[in-house]
Amino acid sequence: MEHLNTPPENHVKVLGGQGWVGLIDSLGTESTIVNAARVSFGKLKSTMDERDVKLLEYLIENRHTSPLEHIVFTFSIHCPLFIRGQWHRHRTWSYNEISRRYTEIDMEFYTPDVLRRQSENNRQASYSDPDFNPVELREAISAHNRESFALYEKLLASGVCREQARGVLPQNMMVTFWGTVDLSNLLHFLNLRDSDHAQAEIKEYAQAIKKLIKPIVPNVAAYFEKKGQTW
Ligand SMILES: Cc1cc2nc3c(=O)[nH]c(=O)nc-3n(C[C@H](O)[C@H](O)[C@H](O)COP(=O)(O)OP(=O)(O)OC[C@H]3O[C@@H](n4cnc5c(N)ncnc54)[C@H](O)[C@@H]3O)c2cc1C
Repeated sequence: MEHLNTPPENHVKVLGGQGWVGLIDSLGTESTIVNAARVSFGKLKSTMDERDVKLLEYLIENRHTSPLEHIVFTFSIHCPLFIRGQWHRHRTWSYNEISRRYTEIDMEFYTPDVLRRQSENNRQASYSDPDFNPVELREAISAHNRESFALYEKLLASGVCREQARGVLPQNMMVTFWGTVDLSNLLHFLNLRDSDHAQAEIKEYAQAIKKLIKPIVPNVAAYFEKKGQTW
């Protein structure tokens, strides 16, 4: 049996190869969106023509969101705990996650390749400084990850239950979860998380998702590209 920490075939690596997001499954195409919008006329089409693309753009532009909800995606996400915390604030997704009450195999910890500086005028912002990437601090982070894991294993070996022992694991612990979301709520997520206001790490995941879904919703991607967004 394949382990959950193995990325699915269709995935995009992020965080310097330490994280990834994969597309597990999807339901519907852009034709589904326009068919849903025209369902009241009782007409169904299986291919998109120019009028359909215009209708699709009209729906997005005017926030007629319900036809977009008929497309659904399931992703598998491998990310540090602190990114999972941000992700799970999006309540319109459905989630399932590997449980550390059941297993301690394949535990991994994130060490940033590059350290950013704290913005002085915005507590929620950071910036890259080419003169600032101290190797010794990255090594200290790595050592802290290893020491936390060693303590976790010591607690388990001493008979402490997994559900309490896991409390010593750091925010850098990698977790894997499945998330399922419809296209309307995914566009909302991408708008918030592929943004300069979002933390750089979750922004990478949002950009990876855009790459994964572009072949399924090419005209949706083209609409946002015309608006100046990168897909
Ligand atoms: C840059 C950034 C910084 C952030 N900083 C913080 C922070 O400092 N502290 C913090 O706590 N959070 C923070 N957040 C999280 C933020 O407040 C939202 O919880 C998160 O972005 C999810 O957005 P959402 O509720 O719109 O998405 P979803 O939960 O996916 O909901 C999508 C939409 O559905 C509707 N909806 C969903 N649930 C309800 C409901 N119960 N009632 C009414 N309408 C509902 C709303 O219209 C909502 O916009 C931050 C988010 C971003 C992007």
